[in-house]
Amino acid sequence: MTEGSLDAPVRHPLAWDDPDFTDPDKIDAELRRVFDICHGCRRCFNLCDSFPRLFDLIDESESGELDSVESKDFKPVVDACTLCDLCFMTKCPYVPPHEFDLDFPHLMLRYRYAEFKKQGAAFADRQLTETDRNGRLAGMMPGLANWANREGNSLTRPLLEKTLDVHHEAALPKFHGRTFKARAAAAPPQVNREAPAFGRKAVLYATCFANYNNPSIGTATQAVLARNGVETRVEYPRCCGMPHLEQGDIERVAEHAREVSRALVPLVDEGYHIVALVPSCALMLKFEWPLILPEDENIKKLSAATRDVTEYVVEIAKNEGLADGLKPLDGKVALHLACHARAQNMGAKAAEMLRLIPDAKLDVIERCSGHGGSWGVKKEFFDIALKVGKPVARQAKKAEPTYLSSECPLAGMHIVQGMERLGDGPAPVQESRHPIELFAMAYGLA
Ligand code: SF4
Ligand code: SF4
Repeated sequence: MTEGSLDAPVRHPLAWDDPDFTDPDKIDAELRRVFDICHGCRRCFNLCDSFPRLFDLIDESESGELDSVESKDFKPVVDACTLCDLCFMTKCPYVPPHEFDLDFPHLMLRYRYAEFKKQGAAFADRQLTETDRNGRLAGMMPGLANWANREGNSLTRPLLEKTLDVHHEAALPKFHGRTFKARAAAAPPQVNREAPAFGRKAVLYATCFANYNNPSIGTATQAVLARNGVETRVEYPRCCGMPHLEQGDIERVAEHAREVSRALVPLVDEGYHIVALVPSCALMLKFEWPLILPEDENIKKLSAATRDVTEYVVEIAKNEGLADGLKPLDGKVALHLACHARAQNMGAKAAEMLRLIPDAKLDVIERCSGHGGSWGVKKEFFDIALKVGKPVARQAKKAEPTYLSSECPLAGMHIVQGMERLGDGPAPVQESRHPIELFAMAYGLA
């Protein structure tokens, strides 16, 4: 038996349609097998709140071993997992092909799926995961929605906390009346026919976040790619389903995957790359969907054609070369590498991309922000999310950046909030930008 595998980690397809997958005894046996290995290893003690909860359970049990921990006490360990994938991607020596065959996040997902099958999702979770419906509704009255969501609104935030379990102090994303898709249709950018990469074609998969909450990620991407000769079109059949995955609703994710891939694959056949604007969504298209629907040919084709936006720009830089015109930014960037970008196993592409800017000054932060999608805004987890993200907030503040940047827009907001709460003076910046927005600034396109 070896201490860790020398081969690259692989992930098994999720056997969610096999009755064993939701069998409570089989899940319990697998939890005990994996938790016992973790108990002997403990490398992940400081990655998130799941592992400290597990190790405390074991250490405070009668025998100090897993055998005296009751299975009902495993639920808080599962609940604290944000599915960030960091333990699997960055720490664990026992992931497949190692014989221990350990995939901690996917075991947490299996537990949640079994729970979801048994009792469905809570009312609040059902509302929070409907990102397309929420985006459309809030987009009809963005002023009102943003007023109601504003931290410190003593009228609406306690109500939101009561009805939707959203912590009254958690920063929430803003909504826009004009989606990214609508903006792109109204003002398509002029493609630079002199650029070395002219001839490339990319579909920008808008993602719910860029479409409804932060269209400037999309417009910045379009502008950068047009400057580089890339013809783009914006498509948004539906959300990638990541919020449903977090709830363990794998069937719903499969439904989204089938619909989105059916819409995008004809464009792949026409020679388009698919560029996802948010790393969690890129992770879904590239890796999670093929594990959920391993036999689906559309999904396989879409996965192979998908690029994270930073990955796509670096690919152009390496293959054809970038268009001229990048100028230094007026200051230093604290760059947080999002967990779901790291989980794509593509290298630190956001850092690579920003280093293409002349004289780039970067302070790279490689820890989890603690946000974890809708998990980190919930009443039950908001304080834990801040605690998990404290080292990131501290590093970001210490860097005294001119710009804070994260590929994950929710992580960015959470880091700003974390910096504000460190208790050693105000945060140096009030907002986070996606690295592609900084790249657009360096081109003078912001
Ligand atoms: S996936 Fe992330 S949150 Fe879940 S156990 Fe691993 S490190 Fe912790
Ligand atoms: S997930 Fe892997 S690295 Fe982390 S504690 Fe468990 S066995 Fe150790």
